Amino acid sequence: MSTQAPSAVPRSTTKTDAASAKKSAEELHLTASQRLRSQNLRYTPSRRALVEILACSDRPLTIPEILGHDSSLAQSSAYRNLTELIEAGIVHRLIAGDEYSHFELAEDLTSHHHHLVCTQCGRVADITLSDEVERSIDRALEAAASSVGFLAEHHRLDVLGRCATCTSARS
Ligand SMILES: [Zn+2]
Ligand SMILES: [Zn+2]
Repeated sequence: MSTQAPSAVPRSTTKTDAASAKKSAEELHLTASQRLRSQNLRYTPSRRALVEILACSDRPLTIPEILGHDSSLAQSSAYRNLTELIEAGIVHRLIAGDEYSHFELAEDLTSHHHHLVCTQCGRVADITLSDEVERSIDRALEAAASSVGFLAEHHRLDVLGRCATCTSARS
């Protein structure tokens, strides 16, 4: 959790929200350390820093972006630690564009969402759909899957296109 300096501008975050956000951050770190322990790995300060950076981001990050958040992280160990966090089921690697892998916390630690992938600049943004839309996607996918005897349990959908910056740069 990053602590934000008090601002004169009223923010939407109330005291209660901040308290519950703090609590859920504690739960996140507890879950992360438990999952690592089950792999006989320790929740080292570097691993914790990686989880913290991903938890504070509103979108999946590349390794250069992660390193940009914390100058004390070395690229080689960040990569190794991310691989271990992936194996422990804490971090998910997103193969979105062709250049960089993006990393985010596993969906069971955050919430179900989809991605907008800019095929021009490679930026990936999170997008959340309404429950109603999610249900209709599930129905359509379950029907298509069951027609070939496949039992659908979960889905991942990424939207490919161009982000607002790339679209306006072209016009
Ligand atoms: Zn873009
Ligand atoms: Zn969905």
